[in-house]
Parts: sequence; C-alpha cells; structure tokens
Amino acid sequence: MPWLQHPSFTIRKEIISQVTPQFVELAGSQERLEFDYLVLAMGVSRQAPIGVSASTKDEFIKDLERDHAAIASAKSIAIVGGGAVGTELAADLMTDFPEKDVTLVHSRDLPVPGPFMEEFRQGAADILRKLGVRTLFGQRVVNEIPADTCPEPEAPEFSDILPELVDSVKRNVTIETTSGEKIKADLVFNCLGAKTKAPIVDLPSSTDEPTFTPNGIRVKSSLQLDDPKYPNIFAVGDMCNRAHVKLAGAAVSGGRLAGENIARLITAGAEGGAVELIESRPPKVSMKLILGEKHALIQGKDHVVPSEEAIHKCAPDIKLGKAMRSNFIDTYPVAK
Ligand SMILES: Cc1cc2nc3c(=O)[nH]c(=O)nc-3n(C[C@H](O)[C@H](O)[C@H](O)COP(=O)(O)OP(=O)(O)OC[C@H]3O[C@@H](n4cnc5c(N)ncnc54)[C@H](O)[C@@H]3O)c2cc1C
Repeated sequence: MPWLQHPSFTIRKEIISQVTPQFVELAGSQERLEFDYLVLAMGVSRQAPIGVSASTKDEFIKDLERDHAAIASAKSIAIVGGGAVGTELAADLMTDFPEKDVTLVHSRDLPVPGPFMEEFRQGAADILRKLGVRTLFGQRVVNEIPADTCPEPEAPEFSDILPELVDSVKRNVTIETTSGEKIKADLVFNCLGAKTKAPIVDLPSSTDEPTFTPNGIRVKSSLQLDDPKYPNIFAVGDMCNRAHVKLAGAAVSGGRLAGENIARLITAGAEGGAVELIESRPPKVSMKLILGEKHALIQGKDHVVPSEEAIHKCAPDIKLGKAMRSNFIDTYPVAK
C-alpha cells in the first residue's frame, strides 16, 4: 500500500502481549513502546482458518492452497455456526463442490442472527437449501467424537495471545447435536462467534462501567475510550463496541476519524485552544451476503434486495476493485 511508505511511519511487525495506560509490550522481547496517543485496532479473535494466521501474502496463499486441498479431498464437510461467515462458507463450498455433503449446524431457527429482517434471514436459508446445503437449524453441537486418536499438535508460540495462530479445523470426527443427530464429517469448520481482545488489554476502568462489554471495548462517538482516565487512547474497527454488525467500512472510516481527532488534540495542545472532536455516527445496519457465484442478498436500511438484483451489485469481484481504487492515496499523498 503506497500510503504506508510515508517516511513518518515506522512499521514494526510484532505481536503485542499487553496494552497498559503508558505503553504496549511486545511479545517475546518484552520491549515496551511508550506512547502519547494510542489507537487500538486489533480486531477480534477468531481461530484459523476464519481468522488469518499468515503474516505475509506468500504464507496466506500457501494456507489457502492447503485448505483448498483439504476441502477437495473431503467427502463430507460440517460447518458449525450459521452467522454470515458460516453461511457464506456453506454456499461457497456447495457452489464449487456440488458433489460433497455439506451440513450447516446453527443454534437459531434462521441463519445470520443480528439486526436483520426476517425476509433477509429466510432468504438466506432458502438459498442454502436450493444449493443443496443440509441445514440443521435450532440445534447445537454437544459432542465431538474423534475417529482416530492422533495426539493434539503442540500449540504454536504466542497462540495464547493470537488465537488465529491455532488451526481450528477438525478432521475425521462425528459431531452430535442437541437433537441426538450424529453427523460424520471429514472436515469440520468452526464458524462460531469472535472473542474480544480483553485478555491482553490492561486498562483498568475508572468508572462504574467495565472497560469491555461482550461486544468490544467501550468507546465514545469520538472513538476515545469511554473513560475520562484515557482521553489519549482510541479504539476503532471490530475491536470497539460501536456496531453490532462489524464490517470493514466502519473500521476504515473509524481509523480515519481517530487519526483526525488525534491531530486536533495535538494542535489544540500546541496552540492552547479549545478542541472540537469529530463524532462518528453509529454505522447503518446493512449487509451484503454473497452466497456462491450466482446468489446474493443485500439487507438495506429497511428493505431486502432480492438475489437476482443483489448478485449484479456484488459481481464480478465483490467490489474489491472499488476498494483498491478508493481515495486513500489522495487523502494521504506519498511524500516524494
Ligand atoms: C470470513 C470473514 C468475512 C468477512 N467478510 C466481510 C465482508 O464481506 N465485508 C465487510 O465489510 N466485512 C467483512 N468481514 C468483517 C471485516 O473483516 C472486519 O470488519 C474488518 O476486517 C475489521 O477491521 P479491523 O481493522 O478492526 O480488524 P482486522 O481486520 O481483524 O485487523 C486487526 C489486525 O490486528 C492484528 N492483531 C490482533 N491482535 C494483535 C496483537 N496482539 N498484536 C499484534 N497484532 C494483532 C491482527 O492480526 C489483524 O491483522 C468479514 C470477516 C470475516 C472473518
């Protein structure tokens, strides 16, 4: 990304083991980086392959190839958790490998829980069934029986801090659901909810409210932590409790807003003036669900765009090209 080549940036590829009011600590070396201002943007924790364990593009391509080979050689695949991730994965698998048995187990009666219209969630369930996904809704997995007793692989270093370093795919197991149903699966993908980064954030609350809610670290609309003790600490993106539906657009605009507010605080500090911070609006409820190559659904403000129309709004590249051409470079020109 050219804008990251700006000489003002120092980029350290490190794992943070602890965040305190004065410094962040690096895993391994335990080096401490002190700060005047801090932006927390660590997202949420998900084990691989839903969370990304690779730290370079080459590693990521290798991971994708490994997972693709495992999928290609499996006959039966179970997905546990029918949020947006599990639902899209089930539809993608059935689209690319229609001959496989794909089962989606989900605890609610309809997939994609959240602030979405019933029409949207029912539409997703209908498309999954049309594609041939076996849907076991209203059921939970209560037991997992391994077919062979391979010893568990040793946990990689720092996987206690970064759960994405752990591969959560189970091979050759039988899962049992609350209704007593047993599903034998060559592969099981765990698409259950994400966890907050609370375990590595040591920022004690100075109020009656906790620093973290189950939905993330508490922030004000300025994206500063919602605690008068930490006016210099911001949190953006999935990490904060700003939105129930955590999406990339809000993360990008949150980063930009936190940067602008820090600039205002620094300028006001230097000039001794009052400071007016920009406030973010709560993100709108919207979701594009892309279900294989031929189906999609879009939940708008108070309407649902049906599949035939929605797929044209997502094709052919899920809007990746648009994101790559966004105006970052105009906003932050690279120094010559
Ligand atoms: C499978 C999947 C599909 C998705 N599809 C869409 C979609 O189609 N559209 C959409 O808008 N959103 C989608 N999302 C959500 C979107 O990815 C997130 O909202 C967005 O990435 C949030 O950005 P972020 O910067 O807050 O966090 P992230 O993108 O998660 O970035 C956080 C970064 O911090 C790093 N990090 C975490 N802990 C540490 C630590 N201790 N030390 C150092 N680094 C650390 C992580 O490795 C990661 O690189 C999807 C998410 C998933 C899982």
